[in-house]
Amino acid sequence: MDRAAPPVTRFAPSPNGRLHLGHALSAIVAHDLAREGGGRFLLRIEDIDGPRSRPELADEFRRDLEWLGLEWEEVSAQSTRLASYAAAADDLKARGLIYPCTCTRSEIEAAGALPGAEGLIYPGTCKHRAPDPARPAAWRLDAEKALAITGPLVWEDALAGPQQVDLADLGDVVLVRKDLPASYHLAVTLDDAADGVTLVTRGADLFAASHVHRTLQALLGLPVPRWHHHPLLLGEDGEKLAKRRGSPALAERREGGEDGRVLAAQLRMQLLALGT
Ligand code: GLU
Ligand code: ZN
Repeated sequence: MDRAAPPVTRFAPSPNGRLHLGHALSAIVAHDLAREGGGRFLLRIEDIDGPRSRPELADEFRRDLEWLGLEWEEVSAQSTRLASYAAAADDLKARGLIYPCTCTRSEIEAAGALPGAEGLIYPGTCKHRAPDPARPAAWRLDAEKALAITGPLVWEDALAGPQQVDLADLGDVVLVRKDLPASYHLAVTLDDAADGVTLVTRGADLFAASHVHRTLQALLGLPVPRWHHHPLLLGEDGEKLAKRRGSPALAERREGGEDGRVLAAQLRMQLLALGT
């Protein structure tokens, strides 16, 4: 990647809950990095979370970002991109890089799965068996096969430095959900490539996911961005602030008359204090 090129960043919220302080911080990081580099800041609504998705929240998100004093270019929501996910999934299927898995959560637990970077590491139950066609199937990355094809891969985080891809803590992640033509991992990787995102910013809680995304970029011949995983805001109790019970949504603060630009300035101070 040409490092001198102005960065393209994005904020990609899922409308399955209101935005909180942690989201504001993520949006500000993406916005400011784009502005500082003379680049572009995109907004993409990640609205494919099936029944949990509440499309009416997208408007609230736009009002929240405006209230924080941010300006953005909006790109297509994920729900309009399902065909591109299906095409990539078909390609991965045809190459034998993903396999169907009919396991339920309780079956995975019963198989003695160990905890990993994002929940239980799939123990591989379906990898070597023919799936029961009567049961709904998700499709999982065959991490072993993927690694054999890609060889060692590296990616670069602006704060943490160069990273060697390691899928051990993630295992055979789901790339196609039982109810959708993609999972978060597949959709976000394809979308970031399609939108020309060159600097992927998000919270450090999603750091491990980038190993999967880098692998998918190699398998699907997609451009490789840089990453910037920002530290999370923690409450005094050390819990993730975004999820902390009782922490008010941005919309509530906005409707309560608080000045969003002042809040944004405070968050920028906190970012400095966090050392980014
Ligand atoms: N839609 C995802 C979320 O809200 C985006 C994560 C990312 O930036 O990759 O968590
Ligand atoms: Zn399975």
